[in-house]
Amino acid sequence: MRIKRHKAVRKTLRFFHVNFGFREPYKVLVDGNFVHAVVASGNGDVEATLSKLLMGNVRAFTTRHTLHELQGMGREYRATLEGARRLERHKCSHDKAQTAAEAIKGEIGDRNESHFFVATQDKDLQRYLSKVPAVPIIFKTVNGVSLQKPGVGLQNYVKRASEAKMGVQDYEKGMVGMGAAREGATVGSAEGEAPPGPGLRRKKKARGPNPLSVKKKVKRAPQVQRRAAEGDQQAKPKRKRMRGRGKASAGGENAG
Ligand SMILES: [Zn+2]
Repeated sequence: MRIKRHKAVRKTLRFFHVNFGFREPYKVLVDGNFVHAVVASGNGDVEATLSKLLMGNVRAFTTRHTLHELQGMGREYRATLEGARRLERHKCSHDKAQTAAEAIKGEIGDRNESHFFVATQDKDLQRYLSKVPAVPIIFKTVNGVSLQKPGVGLQNYVKRASEAKMGVQDYEKGMVGMGAAREGATVGSAEGEAPPGPGLRRKKKARGPNPLSVKKKVKRAPQVQRRAAEGDQQAKPKRKRMRGRGKASAGGENAG
């Protein structure tokens, strides 16, 4: 079970690494209810918990908005507040008073350029973030802490980018998030989105031969060596080796 989970986490990490450039130390923005869930399970070290999940170095961040929120939650959240205070404080790029969730949305922006993971129990926030390209989401369940697999939307998004034969980064420049891609607004040109109108049908591109059907050129051994090898074979025709066999059968006969 545990090994299976490791495998799934590795696969997801590789997905975000290959397609979006996530790398260690992994930066995780945590919100108050995630810290609370981890602390309630008897573990005050949120960063260590995340590091164990991601099997690598982690920097866990809160925002002042999250701490402020937890301060207002009373005694029940004392330990949670302590746990949150031990994390690094991410300085967000705005000063306006906001809710903790809004602050996280703001820091992620529409492309998560800073490569944050987000750890949250807030379903609305999860849903919102799953529509922004490239936000790995972490949450706590009764079985422990989990990393959400990339959703179908994100997988299709990556697929379209690779079909367009460009890096995701370049592909993104022509669009605003996955929502736009889904509606085919900005990237109607990507395979099969909006059907091209009459006269807009794209010409079939002339393509080279299918690389998979082209035979590889066989490397030829230099002439001299080849001849020598042939000569060798003629001189000493291969003999079937009977080593041991004869003796063994002979022995058998003797015994019988
Ligand atoms: Zn802020």
